[in-house]
Amino acid sequence: MPDIRHSRQLLLIAATATLAACQPAVVATPAPVNASAAAAPASPIGPTSLAPVEAGLRDYVRTHHEADIALLERAVNLSSGSQNVVGVRRVGDLFASELTALGFTVRWAEMPAGMRRAGHLVAERTGTKGPRLLLIGHLDTVFEGEGQRFVRQDTIANGAGTSDMKGGDVAMLSALRALNAAGALEGSRIIVVMTGDEESAGAPLDVARRDLIDAARRSDIALAFEGGRAARASISRRGSSSWTLTTTARQGHSAGIFSAGAGNGSIYEAARILDAFRRELSGNPTLTFNPGLIAGGTSVARDTAGTAFAVAGKTNIIAPKTVVNGDLRFLRESQKDSTRARMRAIVADHLPGSDAEITFHDSYPAMPPTAEGGVLLSRFDAVSRSLGYGPVEGDPPESRGAGDVSFVAPYLTGMDGLGVSGRGAHSPEESVNLNSLRMASERAAVFMYRLINGVR
Ligand SMILES: [Zn+2]
Repeated sequence: MPDIRHSRQLLLIAATATLAACQPAVVATPAPVNASAAAAPASPIGPTSLAPVEAGLRDYVRTHHEADIALLERAVNLSSGSQNVVGVRRVGDLFASELTALGFTVRWAEMPAGMRRAGHLVAERTGTKGPRLLLIGHLDTVFEGEGQRFVRQDTIANGAGTSDMKGGDVAMLSALRALNAAGALEGSRIIVVMTGDEESAGAPLDVARRDLIDAARRSDIALAFEGGRAARASISRRGSSSWTLTTTARQGHSAGIFSAGAGNGSIYEAARILDAFRRELSGNPTLTFNPGLIAGGTSVARDTAGTAFAVAGKTNIIAPKTVVNGDLRFLRESQKDSTRARMRAIVADHLPGSDAEITFHDSYPAMPPTAEGGVLLSRFDAVSRSLGYGPVEGDPPESRGAGDVSFVAPYLTGMDGLGVSGRGAHSPEESVNLNSLRMASERAAVFMYRLINGVR
């Protein structure tokens, strides 16, 4: 290792995007929501066996399983990274033709060209029967360029977007097809929104999510088809936001550090603040704040993407500037606000000779647990039992990243995780369990049937 003490150091620090939207966070097997104070009722609401018409929906899905897989293959083989405007639109066109055939009025919600996002597929059936349903999917994948193509091996299929979330989109369409074949869509009120930029939302966010929020304002219940598991669904997700801490100090000779004249430098000020965050604010599993990137020295220059810094400094110089980028995840907006106030107070308690400021940037709102969400989960639990797939409990909110359903949560009752099960989301090894496509389609079909017809 070279002697670096007096050499100019040039570092390039790169961080991955902080808002990997659909990826479940890595946490040690937390307790399900039902076990906590924010519990949903543990018992099912509604029949736990199938009515004849519901058995017909299940059989329709099973009969058309290979056709569903073929549709998924076509969708996966259209590369559609969030910034691939043409590719995302092609996936949208593919699903639009399916929805048109089911009696939906389909439109494409364009985004301004400067956002470099394709826009969203919005499809609607107007009627007077049952609650107004909002079905949420997304057309984009986390991979830009040519994604992994669809390769099937028995009941597993690999490929970009197989589980996140073209598989979920196909499950939604499969359920709608089964309902349509049974005449059960007649009179129903359903809006489908498949966003084109879920994995990397366009900026500004209020433009990128306006169509989705408009649809939510005209709906009662949102069902989102992000990846799911047989025994779990999500009625509560944490919100996420980001922050930037900048500390500054007088530059000077390292030999004088801690003296009244030289002060403590920007790096010690940043260390003080981060350690105080950890000591004073950690311990609540619903609240996390992670410094993902830190850069300090005599010069600190951020790249245009905001994920890399060029940093220079010397060990014999007291560093005048340090920048830290982090996230903040929370279960309630009030928790976000009070945490930010405490972080600001910690930042303001400067070491001698240094200064600091922190700025916050909103991203995904929180989707806190609600009684209505608990009832929805219990109705879904009954549907799952009816189909022989066993009980369903609520996902602990801290076990998932934020998702599009979070944007609509302030306006209606939402549930996520109705999609397919897979492995390796956000990696080149992404795959889907095709049996879960059938399960997700059957459960969505019977669930929507019961919601539309008030079966409980
Ligand atoms: Zn996703």
